[in-house]
Amino acid sequence: MPTSPALSARLIFPTAEIVEEFYLPIIYTACRTCYSEQLPDVIWDKAVSRGVADEKQQALVRKVMESGHGSTIEHVNFTFAISGVTRTLSHQLVRHRAGTAFDQQSQRYVSFKARDNYTIPDSITKGDLPDDLAGQFQRAIDDNLELYGQLLQAEVPAEDARFIFPNAIQTNLIMTVNLRQLIHMSGLRLCTMAQWEIRQLFKQIRHEIFRVSPFFGSFLAPKCVPLGYCDEMGNRDEHCRIRPHRDSVMAVWEAYRGGELAETDGPIVPETSPFRPKPRRADRVPVRMEAPEAGVGQAAEADRF
Ligand SMILES: Cc1cc2nc3c(=O)[nH]c(=O)nc-3n(C[C@H](O)[C@H](O)[C@H](O)COP(=O)(O)OP(=O)(O)OC[C@H]3O[C@@H](n4cnc5c(N)ncnc54)[C@H](O)[C@@H]3O)c2cc1C
Repeated sequence: MPTSPALSARLIFPTAEIVEEFYLPIIYTACRTCYSEQLPDVIWDKAVSRGVADEKQQALVRKVMESGHGSTIEHVNFTFAISGVTRTLSHQLVRHRAGTAFDQQSQRYVSFKARDNYTIPDSITKGDLPDDLAGQFQRAIDDNLELYGQLLQAEVPAEDARFIFPNAIQTNLIMTVNLRQLIHMSGLRLCTMAQWEIRQLFKQIRHEIFRVSPFFGSFLAPKCVPLGYCDEMGNRDEHCRIRPHRDSVMAVWEAYRGGELAETDGPIVPETSPFRPKPRRADRVPVRMEAPEAGVGQAAEADRF
């Protein structure tokens, strides 16, 4: 059985003190600069000296972030030491291009002496599989790694001997990522439709960010949370119930537009809920919703979106 280290993601920079002192003011300054006549360095001095209270800074930052003004949160970065993950995971991780930097342990320059640096999924070790499939799986990997050692001994270069490695082989990386991209990646990788190992990694990453800043940590969530609905094709049966599927939301919307749902006077969404719609402005004439079948041609089709 492998005795290699378990999957780990450790935030190595910045420290909690640096995040606490500088990260919020940097983002606040970026946001405020957009809407102020003041010079950015004046805004910065005030923010970093807490001439503006943290709560006020957070409120502006949250508002700007929720409006999708994403460049403001590209000014801060987080660096993680990631270890004990498989090449299966790292292949997925490095698909993220924008706002990230990766450095990964080389299989050309490192000749692996330990032959136990691999991961076996729980579905195999704890799967109670017939015909000793779990044992066969382990032996297949051990045989591969044994052959790898023999190839090195026969002076085959590591860059060629590695062709025998399975996806289960472990690797280590350094990843630096800005906050905007970290939120995006977490949205995809914390989703229950993501592969289990990368999901585990992002749970640790989220934990690490929470450790240094519960405020920033609160933005790391499956993508359905800020969206308000699930857009994953594989969840049309709504087996994951974090949020309703887009199909259900649209079905309700279509029913409402078709006049099948009545508006009530009472509050549908509790008064305390952050999702409670704002009261309609008295001066705004409500748009009359036509039933889809009552529409004509192109205009009716466009109106459906
Ligand atoms: C559940 C799941 C299943 C997946 N399955 C597969 C699969 O079967 N096969 C496969 O190949 N991949 C798969 N992927 C990977 C996926 O297709 C993306 O490549 C990966 O998630 C990177 O995300 P991203 O495209 O948002 O790019 P990122 O690099 O994370 O970019 C962030 C955002 O920046 C913008 N952006 C970045 N680069 C560009 C660009 N060049 N042009 C325009 N806009 C850009 C986009 O808005 C993008 O969303 C899967 C991912 C997930 C989460």
